[in-house]
Amino acid sequence: MNEPVPPPAAIEVVALTKRYGEGKPAVDSINLRIASGSYCCLLGPSGCGKSTTLRMIAGHESVTSGDVLLENRNITHRPAAERGTAMMFQSFALFPHLSALDNVAFSLKMKGVGKAERHEKAQNLLERVAMGHLAARKPGELSGGQQQRVALARALITQPRALLLDEPLSALDPFLRIQMRAELRRWQKELGLTFIHVTHSQEEAMALADTMVVMNHGVIEQMGSPHTIYNRPVNEFVARFMGGHNVIDTAQGKIGVRTDQMQVVPEGQSIAPEFSSKPAIVSDVEYQGTYVLLGLQDPSSARDASATAEASVMLSESAFAQHPFAVGERVQMAWSPEAAHPLSS
Ligand code: ADP
Ligand code: MG
Repeated sequence: MNEPVPPPAAIEVVALTKRYGEGKPAVDSINLRIASGSYCCLLGPSGCGKSTTLRMIAGHESVTSGDVLLENRNITHRPAAERGTAMMFQSFALFPHLSALDNVAFSLKMKGVGKAERHEKAQNLLERVAMGHLAARKPGELSGGQQQRVALARALITQPRALLLDEPLSALDPFLRIQMRAELRRWQKELGLTFIHVTHSQEEAMALADTMVVMNHGVIEQMGSPHTIYNRPVNEFVARFMGGHNVIDTAQGKIGVRTDQMQVVPEGQSIAPEFSSKPAIVSDVEYQGTYVLLGLQDPSSARDASATAEASVMLSESAFAQHPFAVGERVQMAWSPEAAHPLSS
């Protein structure tokens, strides 16, 4: 019943650049290799060049210079429909007046494929995403999750070897977004396709990606597994953008220390000799349920009410119970050598 899905393709991007006008390019000579059958997330703040990169891979945007390769085949100047890629857009972009079946069959209709054949192919794909029994429904009669599966089937009907997704979940409410991303991940694994997914959400990228590509101002700041990027951000931008990190200036330069690995020691209490430390004043105490979040300020700026906290520390409830820190209290922030890693600026 199921048509074979073509083998997934590795995608390579070489010195890819896009200039829209004078000034700094929107995408500035990036290099990227995405393993076949993997889930890759392009992550970064708004305007950093994620969509432009994806559109150049898809063939929806011309390239200023550089190359896009799909399984060693140079597709830089091939039309979108001949590349072996398919796009899935925000909110799925289904045609509201067409049934699920006709939505899925749509691109075959445009190609002039006869009705019986395109309906059979569309029905097969709907079965594959467990939507065969709802083929006659219109998008408005389907739940968000069911609509996503129709959109997936519609993208798969051209037998792409890579699926490109531009913020597919960002218009959904938070609850549905978490459900839908788990489904996307499951389908990607089940189909074994290469996915490239653009998002500005760190949490979404970490939940989905085998490989995360963190972009800023048209360049790649860091590429790696979510674990590597979260635990070893290479520079201040990645550490701050990923969150959960303190960026501390020391005599040796800038370092990153995770908020859950930073320790707070009451004034006068001794600190293990291998630890580094810095005096601070507690500026904030926030109860967060499973933990307490302390804000710490440099003592020299503590009198300045507008100064933001220099560091945040996640304390377990039991640690906080042992010593309930109070706003204004003098403390030391302290970190072990293993907890600190150098950041380039
Ligand atoms: P992202 O998807 O990361 O938010 P984009 O790739 O859409 O970012 O945009 C990157 C930069 O290129 C932004 O500064 C944006 O304003 C600019 N840009 C995007 N598309 C166009 C366009 N069609 N014409 C001119 N500038 C554009
Ligand atoms: Mg975008």
